[in-house]
Amino acid sequence: MVTTHNLGFSRIGKNRELKFAQESYWKKAINAEQLEEQGRQLRQEGWEYQAKLDYASVGDFSFYDHVLDTSFLLGNLPTRAENLNGSQLDNYFRIARGRAHNNDCACTHAGEMTKWFDTNYHYIVPEITAGTTFTLNTEHLFAQIEEAKAQGINPKPVIIGPVTYLYLSKTKDNSDKLDFLEPLLSVYAELFNELAGIGIEWLQIDEPALVTELSPEWRQAFEKAYYRLQTRDIKLLLTTYFGQLQENLQLACNLPVAGIHIDTINAKDEVSKVIDWLPSHKVLSLGVIDGRNIWKTDLNQCINWLKPIAKKLPNRLWLAPSCSLLHVPVDLTMETNIEPDIKNWLAFAVQKIEELSIIATALNQGKYCVEEALTLNSEAINSRKQSTQVTNNDVKNALKKITPELGARKSKYEQRIFKQRQHLKLPLFPTTTIGSFPQTKEIRAVRSQFKNNALDVNSYVSAIKNEIEQTIRKQESLGIDVLVHGEAERNDMVEYFGEQLEGYIFSQYGWVQSYGSRCVKPPIIFGDISRSKPMTTDWLQYAQSLTEKTVKGMLTGPVTLLNWSFVRDDQPLKETCQQLALAIREEVLDLERAGITVIQIDEAALREGLPLRKSQWQEYLSWAIESFKICANGVKDETQIHTHMCYSEFNDIIEAIINMDADVITIETSRSDTKLLDAFDDINYPNEIGPGVYDIHSPNIPNEADIISLIEKACEKIPVERLWINPDCGLKTRQWCEVTPALKSMVSAAKKLRQKQHQENTTKLAS
Ligand code: GLN
Ligand code: ZN
Repeated sequence: MVTTHNLGFSRIGKNRELKFAQESYWKKAINAEQLEEQGRQLRQEGWEYQAKLDYASVGDFSFYDHVLDTSFLLGNLPTRAENLNGSQLDNYFRIARGRAHNNDCACTHAGEMTKWFDTNYHYIVPEITAGTTFTLNTEHLFAQIEEAKAQGINPKPVIIGPVTYLYLSKTKDNSDKLDFLEPLLSVYAELFNELAGIGIEWLQIDEPALVTELSPEWRQAFEKAYYRLQTRDIKLLLTTYFGQLQENLQLACNLPVAGIHIDTINAKDEVSKVIDWLPSHKVLSLGVIDGRNIWKTDLNQCINWLKPIAKKLPNRLWLAPSCSLLHVPVDLTMETNIEPDIKNWLAFAVQKIEELSIIATALNQGKYCVEEALTLNSEAINSRKQSTQVTNNDVKNALKKITPELGARKSKYEQRIFKQRQHLKLPLFPTTTIGSFPQTKEIRAVRSQFKNNALDVNSYVSAIKNEIEQTIRKQESLGIDVLVHGEAERNDMVEYFGEQLEGYIFSQYGWVQSYGSRCVKPPIIFGDISRSKPMTTDWLQYAQSLTEKTVKGMLTGPVTLLNWSFVRDDQPLKETCQQLALAIREEVLDLERAGITVIQIDEAALREGLPLRKSQWQEYLSWAIESFKICANGVKDETQIHTHMCYSEFNDIIEAIINMDADVITIETSRSDTKLLDAFDDINYPNEIGPGVYDIHSPNIPNEADIISLIEKACEKIPVERLWINPDCGLKTRQWCEVTPALKSMVSAAKKLRQKQHQENTTKLAS
């Protein structure tokens, strides 16, 4: 018999109930009991979906973030939380977001947030300092276990393993994280004991750090931890996911646990090795359903692959999704707008659990017991494979014709910049912004009315044009040098392009938690990508017609479009990225033809696509950068290409960034105090840079002096004639009352810097 289980379920609810409850609680529109009640309902629903499985996951629900919950479970709260009084729930939110309610005075600064491995989920980083101690706090976990039991569910609690927990934590004072392993293990041992005490048979212990490159110390930490935690009281299922174990495979197989889980979507090749190496008393759990993507599983193929494995491992084979279903939307049946043909190719969390149970039934009782389901599945799989909607031969042919020349500019930067400067006639320290301006209630209303057919095209176009005109006038009056149209027509930088490209579809409820109450709805790339008509030229041409100043065209780059979408699993990412690149390239060339001489191509998510293992970075970067270049570099020398990236870690990818050969790159620097410019300095970054001079994520208004001092620091590292002055990201989340004074400071700082520079030059000449 094979056993079925789940690694974790989405907790946001199919209508984002969690988000709305959190926000209501923060606004004090509901009280703690009401929030708790919503939580209970969401857990109950999640378990109902999992009822068919042998084990359902418990402890994966969270009111904000499961890593923060683990910190609570282990009694590891930042010291700044010690003096907070009030309810545990409020303190939990204070650590998560800096405050419990909108008008909360017991503020503390929010915990740092970072990406959970290579997903788009962000967790609150556990903090460790010399004084850190751990104490077990099982109240929440145990309450949920009781709830599940009461619902008739067979609970398998899920926790983050001690090594991954430490691995993901940050020391605030240079203490060595591994020094905390021993005390941490004591708490885990205590937890195991208590779980055994309440009759828990299996505990899922997540150690995804095992799919990363580990130093010898961290590998030893795994051995130390699991030998120390060895127990007969409770069975540990050690779960790994998101990648291959590679050099850690033997280590993982040998750890003294009762079972191990492998992600066969990412590490199928390793399964046979694991079977060979796994001691015969251990359970092997195979993650056979893709927990990161939205495609139906080919059930027949999966069953055929599993049959001999099930035979080899009688009663030792478990089946599950590859990872927690946190990373996929909840329920496909909610979707009413996706074309039925295409909808039939998809599976969200609820459907994935169903698939799992079909596979298990086929293996345990014979295929004939699920014959109808298998037939329907193979029809869907074939329909996708054969669909003419997926394939576009023109696109396939264009891909074959890609040559290195396609991604190369006609001349070197030194030659192009000369021509660009001649016609752009920009002052020293040119000022610009990153693209979007405040998205006011009115703009949102206009867009949504148009979408719901409550506004006709003409009224919509004139409303947006009006907004563009105001934005242009505003920038003119502020004295900005390179203007933008403001992106009022865009709801989202990926969705806007996805909606106009062939090969994309959009869900209505396909939300995935990004962090806390924030959910994203990634579009789905299902077919070959092509562009049937220009997507931005009309707006840009209109904007340019309003002013003598240069208006910068604004596009989202291929790598970002790829990394922020659900992608095809039937062709390599590289090919999908190249298709996106060719489509956006046409837009770049159309903008150029329309008289737009500066074009920015945002690659906000370039870094996000980096594989978990450094050894695989080069491969990713080579096609990602190549795609950017294909997209950007077909233009004339005179056309200036900008790119924008919203982060500050460039040290390890700087070569790739240079390789992109953008004329200007704008980056985030304000929060890291220009330190990151060191990377650009060390390597003598050859082109122009706009280090973001203020943090747009904060409502604080930057002052002129701070901006000047930041730029002066930058001048020590980058030659003055290659520096731009701009905020560190788009302004869409800000209000005009914040943006106006902020940009005023920015422009006046630039003017002062120019004066100073002029004086210095004059003095130099004189001496
Ligand atoms: N051009 C986009 C904007 O200004 C860039 C957003 C981003 O980098 N995330 O909003
Ligand atoms: Zn940005």
